Amino acid sequence: MDFTLTETQTLIRDTARKVAREVVAPQARAVDREERFPKEVYTQLGELGLLGVNVPEAYGGAEAGVVSYALAMMEISAACASTSVGMAVTNMAAELICTYGTEEQKKKHVTALVSGRAVAGAFALSEPHAGSDAGALRTSATRKGDRWVLNGAKQWITSGAYAGVMVVWARTSSEGNKGLSCFIVEGGTPGLIVGRAEDKMGLRGSNTVPLTFESCEVPLENLLGREGDGFKLAMVALDGGRIGISAQACGVARAALEASVRYAKERKAFGQPIAEFQGLRWMMADMQTRLSAAELLCLRAAQLKEAKRPFSREASMAKLFCSETSNWVCDRAVQIHGGYGYIDEFPVERYLRDARVQTIYEGTSEIQRLVIAREIFKAVGA
Ligand SMILES: Cc1cc2nc3c(=O)[nH]c(=O)nc-3n(C[C@H](O)[C@H](O)[C@H](O)COP(=O)(O)OP(=O)(O)OC[C@H]3O[C@@H](n4cnc5c(N)ncnc54)[C@H](O)[C@@H]3O)c2cc1C
Repeated sequence: MDFTLTETQTLIRDTARKVAREVVAPQARAVDREERFPKEVYTQLGELGLLGVNVPEAYGGAEAGVVSYALAMMEISAACASTSVGMAVTNMAAELICTYGTEEQKKKHVTALVSGRAVAGAFALSEPHAGSDAGALRTSATRKGDRWVLNGAKQWITSGAYAGVMVVWARTSSEGNKGLSCFIVEGGTPGLIVGRAEDKMGLRGSNTVPLTFESCEVPLENLLGREGDGFKLAMVALDGGRIGISAQACGVARAALEASVRYAKERKAFGQPIAEFQGLRWMMADMQTRLSAAELLCLRAAQLKEAKRPFSREASMAKLFCSETSNWVCDRAVQIHGGYGYIDEFPVERYLRDARVQTIYEGTSEIQRLVIAREIFKAVGA
């Protein structure tokens, strides 16, 4: 097994690290405090190929693969998770359209997404009564002449107020999961109403909104994939998306650990740097060990997806372990900072708030366990 990065992977990681350190990190605190959607940063990420890392060059992407994407996500997330969640969703929407879209859809919408022209992409699956149980969604799409007409409500849509291109799930028949279809809806389409942004515990610079569709019409050619294939498209997109959230979790955890090490070297108690206390050194050793295990799980899932091998179980294991590790590491980081960990003079309180949602979105930890268990029962015969 070769753990060496290729030239392309190194280049993408270094590119992401540079913009993360020079542009994203310096404004992360303000983005969080002022709940400021970092719109201009997405333009820059688009110019650097970071909004379509695993998208073919023919549609404006970097065509650098899934491992590169995970590495880029880790770097941007270490600087600002509010920024990286929008990056993740944009990559996810672009990849989904690339995989299932017609040539016209790819030329029009994928190029807009990865260049940053669309600002960001959005992924509108969840509804007020249907999160984990996505198959229970009620938004409807009805054919009327040369249009699809959408009606219904979506909840928790990341970048929803800014996204130029959205992938939206709606029911085209009453046949359970087989009655779901996926549509491309452009931001600003009449009948698409953006609600008040949620006031969140973390990721406060990310925009999270409810969306209402009131007789929102899109052309027939905006159906993505085949009618009735929507549930499959959602599951495929979420499998890949979980690699992105795993990488986000690793990035935030790494930032928390590094902040803790720096702080422990400077802060003195009982006449010596707190870094000298064995209790804290062991804590940091455990943080690093869990973080390294998380990174390996994340990159393993990415490598399987890149090799076009089954990766559903690995993506869920990565999402489960990385997100729980991130929460644990960030909690320890606050502890190491003592009282200063609890105020916003140091970034670790933000890391902890940002990490909290990672065990919830793109499938809760309970749903990941459900997927993992299903896969192991499938694999091990009687
Ligand atoms: C900041 C943020 C951003 C988001 N962005 C998006 C987005 O861009 N697009 C989008 O579509 N959605 C988005 N979501 C929604 C997110 O994916 C859902 O919140 C998540 O899937 C959980 O759904 P729920 O909130 O309805 O919880 P529920 O599904 O109501 O779950 C409640 C509890 O029950 C547990 N539970 C449910 N089913 C089972 C089961 N079968 N076995 C065991 N336990 C179970 C859950 O694990 C959880 O603990 C976002 C959410 C947040 C908070």
